[in-house]
Amino acid sequence: MDQMQGETDLFSSAEAAELVEVTRALIGIDTVNPPGNERAVAQLLLDRALEWGLEGEIVELSADRANLQLRLPGCSADRPALMYCGHFDTVPLGGAPWTHAAHGAHLSPEGVLWGRGAVDMKGGVAAMVCGMAALARRSARFPAEIRFLGTIGEEVDCAGARAALDAGAMDGVGQLVIAEPTNMELVVAHKGALFLELTARGRAAHAAMAEQGINAVSHMMRLLGRIEELDFGVGEYPLLGRPTVTVGTITGGSVVNIVPDRCVAQVDLRTTPAVDHQTLLAMLAHLVDAHRVDGVEFDLHVTGDYPPVGTAPDDPLVTAADRVLRTLGDDAPHKTAVSYFSDGSILQPPTGLPTLLCGPGDPTLAHQTDERIDVAQLIRAARFFSELPYEVFDQ
Ligand SMILES: [Zn+2]
Repeated sequence: MDQMQGETDLFSSAEAAELVEVTRALIGIDTVNPPGNERAVAQLLLDRALEWGLEGEIVELSADRANLQLRLPGCSADRPALMYCGHFDTVPLGGAPWTHAAHGAHLSPEGVLWGRGAVDMKGGVAAMVCGMAALARRSARFPAEIRFLGTIGEEVDCAGARAALDAGAMDGVGQLVIAEPTNMELVVAHKGALFLELTARGRAAHAAMAEQGINAVSHMMRLLGRIEELDFGVGEYPLLGRPTVTVGTITGGSVVNIVPDRCVAQVDLRTTPAVDHQTLLAMLAHLVDAHRVDGVEFDLHVTGDYPPVGTAPDDPLVTAADRVLRTLGDDAPHKTAVSYFSDGSILQPPTGLPTLLCGPGDPTLAHQTDERIDVAQLIRAARFFSELPYEVFDQ
């Protein structure tokens, strides 16, 4: 197969074939979330990883759902660990018909692998684990642990990343690389998200005697207007711009001639790494307090909290990744940022550790019908993950 040309010492054509086979097996397991059912993926990868000489274990979270932890054996813990991370769940298939069955893992003669998760992100997961397997096979040793964390639930609530963090999986980690699809570009920052539900409670009255009521919709509109104008106290963040506010839903009232006594709105705030979510929440609580006037009651509930991720473009992790990409033939690796969030939102903020998103696959094909990945890039990604520890630890 011509996509296996350019073989390096670190990744043979047999290993490339194995990578493609494993990726196809992962795509063949339906992990559409909800419900997820990621355990089968965790088990398949654990079985392979043990065969390949890695160490690890499944972390059961419920009957059909499990995270996976893997390690390269024989490394010391003299320096902080390098953690690879990827999620096992996928988004649903959508209503449109697929050219090739979504879980059929069709491999076209041109070297394109089709299926849900090919890009987001079973391809990236397989590339990371196969990259580590290549190191195990060569008995590579580093002065730091090389770990892999496979998570459940990233597409819905990052439940796997939260469970891993709570269980101490990030203890001792000094760098984090997440193989979300970036077309092998270096994503050094992504936005965070804060989802709010606001409830206003007033008092109903006949609209002909409106002065006897407390209009929950009107009070809500005033509050939302202020939130939309919120000055986050930060300027433009490199590559990401400014935070945004979107009022996503609003419901209230029953008929035209009754003063509404209840209004519920949902607000989506997208933040940059310059914004601390706790500070932002305090600002919002203050704003809500200031609108508790004329008898109206407000409740503020956080329904989702995914902090932003940002790493200096000249961080040693980023420059190490840049050097590896150059050795793999990329003349000028592109450093960029993305607006979606990842497991990095959960795993990075407590320690602020250097975090990089870099993985195979065209991100515009993620979450789409006919999701598919270029096998040549998949193989290049596995080489990247097998060579990165050498650059990070100057071996
Ligand atoms: Zn993803």
